Amino acid sequence: MDISHILNELGEERERHYGSVSTPVYQSSNFCFPSVAAMRTSLEDEMDVPFYTRGHNPTVAVLQQKLAALEGAEAALVFASGSAAVAAAVMSGLQAGDHVVCVQKPYSWTGKLLSKVLKRYGVDTTFIDGTLVENWDAACLPTTRLFMMESPNSMTFELQDIPAVASLAKSRGIRTVLDNSYATPLNQQPLQMGIDIVVHSASKYLSGHSDMVAGVLCCSRKLAEDIFAGEFMTLGGIVSPNEAWLMIRGLRTLSIRMDRVAQSTAKVVAFLEQHPKVERIIYPFHASHPQHDLARKLMRQGTGQFSILLKAPDLAACERFSDSLKRFLLACSWGGHESLQFPICTLYKSQNYAETPLPWNFVRFYVGLEEPEVLIADLEQALALL
Ligand SMILES: *Cc1c(COP(=O)(O)O)cnc(C)c1O
Repeated sequence: MDISHILNELGEERERHYGSVSTPVYQSSNFCFPSVAAMRTSLEDEMDVPFYTRGHNPTVAVLQQKLAALEGAEAALVFASGSAAVAAAVMSGLQAGDHVVCVQKPYSWTGKLLSKVLKRYGVDTTFIDGTLVENWDAACLPTTRLFMMESPNSMTFELQDIPAVASLAKSRGIRTVLDNSYATPLNQQPLQMGIDIVVHSASKYLSGHSDMVAGVLCCSRKLAEDIFAGEFMTLGGIVSPNEAWLMIRGLRTLSIRMDRVAQSTAKVVAFLEQHPKVERIIYPFHASHPQHDLARKLMRQGTGQFSILLKAPDLAACERFSDSLKRFLLACSWGGHESLQFPICTLYKSQNYAETPLPWNFVRFYVGLEEPEVLIADLEQALALL
């Protein structure tokens, strides 16, 4: 893959835009035509040429070409959020009476899409421990139409043996959707392993600066045409031309950001692994991860998210630890320039989240672009307070 060509050149056709080095923002809802014949031609091809911006916008189209090329896909569709992309990918393959098999702990709103929203429309889901291929096989019913995967998944970073699950699905005529947000297309290429549709929250690494929300879906041209004519155009959760431009800008540095994050995270994890106040580290690229070998087989390198279990006497100590970290902002999400922490003790004593399967001494971290030494020093002083 010629990554720098994709990120810097592909789709930009600068000769059509006065040699503009930066892709122009086509901030227009609609496009007009010199004749009825020309209007008719465009209407017949709403996915590929400008007619109305919900279907095709030239700025968004540049972004879609780049994202498809990064995933090694024939086509990509960009949405207003990762959740919109997940919903379109999942819904496109289902009708009432169908059954879905999904990883046990998917991204929270993916779980709710299946267990709450689609359940109302007669779609049933079985949530399984996706680490074992035989669990996917055992959960299949005659009505199973979709496997929903996320590898590694959110918070606890379990992996699926992607080629094995994809080949099982193929043998049973079941469609596979995989959320690849954790790894990015630079570090993991699920379509090449037999997955049908890859989805991303582009609010994370792909845009990379914590300044926008968007999602992407990558697949074959045929599937993309079906989804375009169905969920994409009818639900209409599209990205704005301005935000597409922001994401094109964010992508310029994707490769160096991912390398920096991988190197810094390895250093931070190495510091934490030997610290007496850290009970356990959960990171696919750490030797203690039960699927470390699989992670190395499926992914080029690690990324910035990992979790730890603190050796803390009580919840108050965990709160003190998190409150005293100065370089890890207390916030959700990840993939931007800034390092983050999401302490699970936040979900305790909260009316909205009375239940979580995760323990109160669990903290999910994201390592951003700061100097790793600064992050390590910050962790050191906070751990000393436990
Ligand atoms: C954030 C996230 C999503 C949802 O994406 P939004 O852009 O926030 O809608 C989906 N999957 C994973 C793994 C995520 O981390």
